[in-house]
Amino acid sequence: MNKQKLAILGSTGSIGTQALDIVRQHPDKFEVIALTAHSNWELLAQQVKEFTPSFAAISNEDHLDDLKATVSGVEIISGSENLPSIATLDEADIILNSLVGFAGFESTLEAIRSGKKVALANKESLVVGGALINQELQKTDAKLIPVDSEHSAMLQCLVGESMDDIEKIIITASGGPFREFSKKQMEEVTVEQALNHPNWNMGAKITIDSSTMMNKGLEIIEAHWLFDIPVEKIEPVVHPQSIIHSMVTFIDGSSKAQLGLPDMKVPIIYALSYPERLDLETPRMNWQEAQNLTFEPVDFERFPCVKLAMDSLKESDYAPAVLNAANEVAVDRFLNKEIGYISISKIVEKSLAKIESSDSLNVETLKEIDKETRIYAASIK
Ligand code: MG
Repeated sequence: MNKQKLAILGSTGSIGTQALDIVRQHPDKFEVIALTAHSNWELLAQQVKEFTPSFAAISNEDHLDDLKATVSGVEIISGSENLPSIATLDEADIILNSLVGFAGFESTLEAIRSGKKVALANKESLVVGGALINQELQKTDAKLIPVDSEHSAMLQCLVGESMDDIEKIIITASGGPFREFSKKQMEEVTVEQALNHPNWNMGAKITIDSSTMMNKGLEIIEAHWLFDIPVEKIEPVVHPQSIIHSMVTFIDGSSKAQLGLPDMKVPIIYALSYPERLDLETPRMNWQEAQNLTFEPVDFERFPCVKLAMDSLKESDYAPAVLNAANEVAVDRFLNKEIGYISISKIVEKSLAKIESSDSLNVETLKEIDKETRIYAASIK
């Protein structure tokens, strides 16, 4: 593999910092040319000093002066509206998009339009704009490689296979911290409980999404767009150990699975090195140790978000955008202790029923739907 020039959008987050660990392990394979952060300018400044990128961006302009005063020898960009310019830098070979939320969508779209290899850790890009992104992918030789552990697993299972031979994709879910909670117990879930995930260490938004299993719903929508698979052929299953990251069953009844310890560095390095592999210093499975891998169905009663997400794909092109925006607002309100835990799915459900659009799908329509949904979702209980 030739040395790849890497731009990391969201370098101070969980995925971004792990990607930089990979760069530290492989200084001969990757060169960081751009880093961006939302507001953690102190960590961004440290990263700039260590990795000496040509560009650094801070989307929260309140911290621009602090950043400027701390680093030198780097071109500094500010404002979230300017982030897509980092995603299209001529110098960049790979754009790692680990922005959180709908804010990451335009960067993905612009990176694809400029023919980049995009390592995608921003779920919302495909959830909200999967149809538009796929249209753009057909026009350029850009590549979209998933960073999420489940989609990375699917991709690894599909290498060398014909897409026509897929019978179904089995997407695994840990079930989150409330897998065994009753409906009654779920009504009393606190922010602190929801932020404590048993298997994965992630950012706050995605940790809450894992606990409601909306995360799985969003991942089903992503899988639909990434692999062009109808939602009817995607089957979620709870697998509490998070060792099997997903499976594919083929038309002859054979299934392939991708396994490993839950460690995001594995899908991150695979996305960065794909279709090759690079060595990674990370703990391995010990197959000599007795262990059980168990599976159970998803209970849509207790985890309605999974069903809402799957149904949104059948409803309309823009319904997943409504689902996503309503969920972002609801999770935020829950984290701010404005609403109870089970109101998260209720707000999403009400928003899906309320927000309608007859406009044809484009970036502007998506933005309008996103905005309209956020206003509505912020106003209801
Ligand atoms: Mg995942």
